[in-house]
Amino acid sequence: MKPAPFNYFAPASLEEALALKAQHGEEAKALAGGQSLIPAMNFRVAQPAILVDLNRIASLRDIRKNGALTIGAMTTQSTAEKNPLVAEHVPLLHEALPNIAHPQIRNRGTIGGSVAHADPAAELPVVCLALRTRMQAQSQSGERWIEAQEFFSGLFSTALAADELLTAVEFPLVEERTGYAFLEVARRHGDYAMAGLAAVLSLDENGLCRQARLVYLNVGDGPLEATQAAASLQGQKPSAKAFQDAGKIASQEDMQPFGNLHASPQYQQHLSAVLTQRALQLALNRITQKATHP
Ligand SMILES: Cc1cc2nc3c(=O)[nH]c(=O)nc-3n(C[C@H](O)[C@H](O)[C@H](O)COP(=O)(O)OP(=O)(O)OC[C@H]3O[C@@H](n4cnc5c(N)ncnc54)[C@H](O)[C@@H]3O)c2cc1C
Repeated sequence: MKPAPFNYFAPASLEEALALKAQHGEEAKALAGGQSLIPAMNFRVAQPAILVDLNRIASLRDIRKNGALTIGAMTTQSTAEKNPLVAEHVPLLHEALPNIAHPQIRNRGTIGGSVAHADPAAELPVVCLALRTRMQAQSQSGERWIEAQEFFSGLFSTALAADELLTAVEFPLVEERTGYAFLEVARRHGDYAMAGLAAVLSLDENGLCRQARLVYLNVGDGPLEATQAAASLQGQKPSAKAFQDAGKIASQEDMQPFGNLHASPQYQQHLSAVLTQRALQLALNRITQKATHP
């Protein structure tokens, strides 16, 4: 199908793009990689009156380290995947990125586009919530930072206002005595996953679990955090049994999946339980490896 008629602007600066958003609000949609927006327009699920193409705004494409790693919204997923700063300082993001679709899609798809799109089946919102990232939003009246916990507000919806653009995502750097793991199961590599999670596990100086964060994709109307499972680990000695119990709590108490074309709710729960156990073990192994091979 062809999209409904629309007006197209390709501003060369962020100021111009923000002026268009200020003037047209919800009517004007940002165009990033177009990997979600263009198919939605072709199916007429989305019918924006105006497209504001951000691809000519070079300032939205930088990756910089200054106490955190700040990634410009228009950085493509494949650029971030190959960036050595991402690999070293945000290993969870580095591990999650290759799970997004195929290289061709990641060559066009952007970090900001995926985060702003807020698809419950997407990898990046899950990573952003697990890492407690902050989103930089800008409008003509200035900038503000939005915590990931407030940013994802429901099915394909975020806390961005009608006149705002997402301009960057700030990822905290890898922490001491902390391990990370991203795991998912898809029918074929590159498909949206049937189930998956981002896990963050931190130990205290006695080797007990100080904090865990477990965030799942495709089992709710946004990235779903298993708070009861995480609480069950706090203060515990990390063990296969503790991880298995956490998986059980996450899948039975923290989530009520809807199921989808490829997986029933029960199968999603089963996968989530197994993946939780594996992700926590992997995160723990990575802390131990780091301790022996600094
Ligand atoms: C075949 C196929 C398979 C895919 N598989 C996966 C997958 O497994 N996992 C996954 O996560 N994704 C998948 N995707 C989607 C892909 O990752 C997209 O790139 C991503 O969801 C959107 O990024 P984009 O840069 O293409 O954004 P666009 O499609 O350009 O925009 C998406 C939405 O975000 C808004 N937006 C974009 N940038 C901004 C901004 N800076 N500020 C405010 N709003 C903004 C747009 O207005 C639009 O509403 C797949 C896509 C295809 C076509």
